[in-house]
Amino acid sequence: MNNFGFNFDNTYAKLPEIMATKISPVPVKQPELVILNTHLAEELGLNFSNTSSQDLANLFSGNILPEGSEPIAQAYCGHQFGHFVMLGDGRAHLLGEHINPKNIKVDIQFKGSGRTPYSRMGDGRAALGPMLREYLISEAMHHLGISTTRSLAVVKTGEMIRRETELKGAILTRVAASHLRVGTFQYVAAKQDLNALKQLVDYAVARHYPELLNSQNKAVALFKTVMKRQAKLVTEWLRVGFIHGVMNTDNVSISGETIDYGPCAFMDQYDPKTVFSSIDHYGRYAFGSQSIITKWNLARFAESLLPLLAEDEKKAVKVAEDLIHSYDETFENHFHEMMKKKLGLISNEENDKAIISELLNLMYNNQSDYTNTFRYLINNKLPQNKLLNNTGFITWEQKWKNRIKQNQEEALNLMIENNPEFIPRNHKVEEALKNAENGSVKSFNTLLNILKNPYTNQIEYEDYQKPAPPSDKIYKTFCGT
Ligand code: AMP
Ligand code: MG
Repeated sequence: MNNFGFNFDNTYAKLPEIMATKISPVPVKQPELVILNTHLAEELGLNFSNTSSQDLANLFSGNILPEGSEPIAQAYCGHQFGHFVMLGDGRAHLLGEHINPKNIKVDIQFKGSGRTPYSRMGDGRAALGPMLREYLISEAMHHLGISTTRSLAVVKTGEMIRRETELKGAILTRVAASHLRVGTFQYVAAKQDLNALKQLVDYAVARHYPELLNSQNKAVALFKTVMKRQAKLVTEWLRVGFIHGVMNTDNVSISGETIDYGPCAFMDQYDPKTVFSSIDHYGRYAFGSQSIITKWNLARFAESLLPLLAEDEKKAVKVAEDLIHSYDETFENHFHEMMKKKLGLISNEENDKAIISELLNLMYNNQSDYTNTFRYLINNKLPQNKLLNNTGFITWEQKWKNRIKQNQEEALNLMIENNPEFIPRNHKVEEALKNAENGSVKSFNTLLNILKNPYTNQIEYEDYQKPAPPSDKIYKTFCGT
């Protein structure tokens, strides 16, 4: 049988029984392919060249399962907006781990593929708009050079789902290094199953960080590495103005990938308090709070590992505290280095911190567009009028120009590599999704193609660099739809 190049292993299904439930996707009425990521398929060693679009639709809806897959729904918990909840894959099925041509296992997961024992009151389904949104933004993040889950395909199910209105149902195929989350560890810890916790740590280390296999204490080593990955990841979000929007512990990946694109969005005007999510009333997950929330989530991770951090509890608590305390320095170093790159600062100078914070303050006080201000410094394009007329900025710019003078070319190249020209501007994303929901994927594909080269000057698409017109300013995003 043609198995499209899928080569499954199912190691997660072999973990202790409490970790997952064997269950197949619920077949759908009339699947229709909306988009297939042919480039990613190739990277994965999959081959769909002789596959009809109907077979593709059947495959990516779960109506036919590829050979070797053993679908499961994974169990996990999570702190959602600070509250501890039992969750699990309520609308997702893990088909298994596909072994790619580089001999690395990647999870192939459907999202929106029907009810599972973890569905609670939900229908197990997803709507076309949000699935295309995840596809678009996750691919944009990948091309921005930021660690993320990928999107392989979206199909329409041919069924309507009920939300505030009736919406077209859809299924996304997500590819991830794994779906191990902080919430997975919290789940096992809550079950007080020490054996399963040990197995889970061993599993995570073997799968993601085999270099730690011989560590004296694998749980401590795992924590330290995940902490570094998360500090790096959130720094990358801050580099491009990304707001995840729902940084619950079930959405924090042990592999360090950005995962679960719900109400995420990119900031236009620089303001650390920026929030787009309609349910984030208190700004818990605001742009400028993302590092502190990462630390909070990591503290929950350390708590769940507690029985393995040291022999007695008191000692373990002390180990956990010391580990968490080291987060601030790790993050600050990453952040400083990242901002230096954004400003083309090559050597280390005493007033680097001041140069960085002064610019951020000026941007905030003058309502400057985050992305375009940095690009302006490179080539004077898309000027921010209010900022440019500010005497504080005029002085700052002169100081900065003097600072980079010695290595100007190198500085500008560094800036070009670290400051995108194109981010998914919210109004463009909405326009593309609206058209796609109405049956035309043309503007979706145009936007996707622009975002594949975010650091490249694409002169004909200057319109896509502009923030939303002022009338559009109150932009809101919704999750779980
Ligand atoms: P998310 O906001 O996508 O991270 O989802 C949070 C939790 O709610 C996860 O356990 C999901 O599986 C579950 N969930 C979200 N939407 C649905 C739905 N329509 N049906 C069942 N479970 C859902
Ligand atoms: Mg989630």
